[in-house]
Amino acid sequence: MKERVVSGMRPTGQLHLGHYHGAIKNWVRMQHELDCLFFVADWHALTTHYDNPQQLAENTWDMIIDWLAAGVDPEKASIFIQSRVPEHAELHLLLSMVTPLAWLERVPTYKDQIEKLKDKDLTTYGFLGYPLLQAADVLVYRATQVPVGEDQAPHIEMMREIARRFNYFYGREPGFEEKVAAAVKKLSGKDGKRFVELRSQFQTTGSAEARTEALALIAAAGSLGAQDRERLQGHLDGTGRSILTEPATVLTETPKLPGLDGGKMSKSYGNTIMLREQPADVAAKVKKMPTDPARVRRTDAGNPENCPVWQFHKIYSDAPTREWVVKGCTTAGIGCIECKQPVIDGIVREITPMHERAMQYIAKPQLVREIAEAGSARARAVATETMREVREVMGIAAA
Ligand code: ATP
Ligand code: MG
Repeated sequence: MKERVVSGMRPTGQLHLGHYHGAIKNWVRMQHELDCLFFVADWHALTTHYDNPQQLAENTWDMIIDWLAAGVDPEKASIFIQSRVPEHAELHLLLSMVTPLAWLERVPTYKDQIEKLKDKDLTTYGFLGYPLLQAADVLVYRATQVPVGEDQAPHIEMMREIARRFNYFYGREPGFEEKVAAAVKKLSGKDGKRFVELRSQFQTTGSAEARTEALALIAAAGSLGAQDRERLQGHLDGTGRSILTEPATVLTETPKLPGLDGGKMSKSYGNTIMLREQPADVAAKVKKMPTDPARVRRTDAGNPENCPVWQFHKIYSDAPTREWVVKGCTTAGIGCIECKQPVIDGIVREITPMHERAMQYIAKPQLVREIAEAGSARARAVATETMREVREVMGIAAA
């Protein structure tokens, strides 16, 4: 089977260079070789913007235009809208039955975001469930690869755990429970009890220590045969016939693009350069970027490693230019404004063809809608296949 790629973004504003270098570059590369599905995560946007959905529809079309402008080819990849494929919601609901609350509460972005977005009330059911909806978004297509930025890696890790747990519940060999119970009985009373405790601890909290101790316990038990050991390990890790596929995270060479201030480029921090930024604004923004604080005067030498602009040279400049930067900066041979020019040129060179492509699609709103319509129909066909099997193994009566 051809590998399948799924990824999405929340329509919460125009796309910036971080989206492009962290994710879309991989989308564009992968669409030539693999079966790719890219979706506008409009339901996800509501998890944090539920109180002001006025922009949502407009942002949806705008983001599709940004993707097309950045090189996503609707002839090669399916572009669709999450809410047009209600199977995402159905799988989310069914997965919620097997998802321990602790798994959601320990997702690093959960507490971070609640802290960071203090002006919003995010103590909602929808926001806690955000990574689980994300899991459904990917698992419903049995995707093998998910190209995203580095910040998303813990969410993909959780998807893998959810898929494993689902497969364990609904994909075990017949009589598996009895065989495991028999193997546990072969452990000494004390060890058997401890194994059961450790397994439950690992299953609910993901504690690596609990798993290690349980594995050591299985390995040390002389009373177990090879098959028993295998079953107990399967029981511990929760493996079963693969109904849902565990996807892998795919990162670019720039999994975390810095923003104008040196921190991660992010809409919420106001440190971005948009893909549809005007060249004059690119220049103005880059010129305002802080540089190595050691370079107070033009004659002070600096160190590129302490300068956010250097991070951009790593992306936009060729080897001779980078050499020129290092030499010029460390000897005060060039000034910071001079040093910034190749970065400005590089960014403008990168986004100019995107502007041209965007204009073509802005002029044809009907075409953009047709692309999303066709993509959503195609996505729905794949999702329906998975849901047929999911419903069957979960005991839901067929029509
Ligand atoms: P918000 O501030 O609302 O979280 P954002 O600008 O961080 O928005 P997201 O919608 O969270 O953007 O991210 C969409 C995708 O782009 C994800 O795959 C994310 O990992 C990636 N991404 C976003 N910003 C960056 C960045 N600075 N570097 C690399 N990848 C990024
Ligand atoms: Mg983000």
